[in-house]
Amino acid sequence: MKMPFPRLAARGALSRGLTLVAIALASAGAPAWAADTPPARLPRPPGIAPLPKVSSPRLYVIDCGTLTYNRPEDYQLTREEVADTNMSVPCFLVIHPKGILLFDTGLSDRLVGRPLWENVDGGYGQIKFNTLRGQLADIGVTAADITYLAISHSHWDHVGNANDYAGSIWLTQKAELDFMFGPGADAAYLPLYSALAHGRKEVFEGDHDVFGDGTVILKFTPGHTPGHQALYVKLAKTGGVVLSGDLWHYAEERTLHRMPKEEESTSTPASREAVERFLKERNAHLWIGHSTAFFSNAIKSPGWYD
Ligand SMILES: [Zn+2]
Repeated sequence: MKMPFPRLAARGALSRGLTLVAIALASAGAPAWAADTPPARLPRPPGIAPLPKVSSPRLYVIDCGTLTYNRPEDYQLTREEVADTNMSVPCFLVIHPKGILLFDTGLSDRLVGRPLWENVDGGYGQIKFNTLRGQLADIGVTAADITYLAISHSHWDHVGNANDYAGSIWLTQKAELDFMFGPGADAAYLPLYSALAHGRKEVFEGDHDVFGDGTVILKFTPGHTPGHQALYVKLAKTGGVVLSGDLWHYAEERTLHRMPKEEESTSTPASREAVERFLKERNAHLWIGHSTAFFSNAIKSPGWYD
């Protein structure tokens, strides 16, 4: 999703609660584990499935919620042009022989079981049936097993559970780090990811080869936010896929060449062109995460692509 524009002056109960959390965090100071030493690994919970062992990368598509929305005009599309104005919110897990990467953390697990009226933000209704944590457990993965956390960008529908994975090494573009913790940071959403400030991180500018073998690459695609990144995964049977982040939201943005008006003057057009070229070069598929057509047809976790 894109940030509501203009921003709403009045926020819901959820955001007011988060603001209070922000104040509490600010007054509590840095947590005890804020030092450079990695946090102690928690014991593996009893009864959890064994951690999958792989010889080539495996990609899981995880249900991290749904956004109900009916203003495709904000993306310069009409209701007639868009097959479904709602948006899926996936998280992705890559299990590689050398480690595990979580890409995006979706809507907050705290929304599960709460009434919809509590969870409307900027016109987006947030529906969440299953926790990310529980779906990872169904795969056989706990937070302590995850080597790396990366987010496509820091909007609230992508960082809802980021604090739960602050024990992993956070892979971030410098521009997004500055955007998230600089003077322009939104106090209402910062508490969703505030723990990342104190954890281990790798900060870079441009593309980043996560495991050093070219199979999992964060692609610098600024525009939607200053440090937005997509993720390329090269799979042995499926082939190459690029996870779009919010470089596109609706599939019709790609076919009809539309984007939010305010992004026309950002790097989004250049980032889209670069990704289109990359897709051709690598003969890779584009998976648009917010497209309900993509999500409903995808093999969902605990199934996988390899
Ligand atoms: Zn989004």
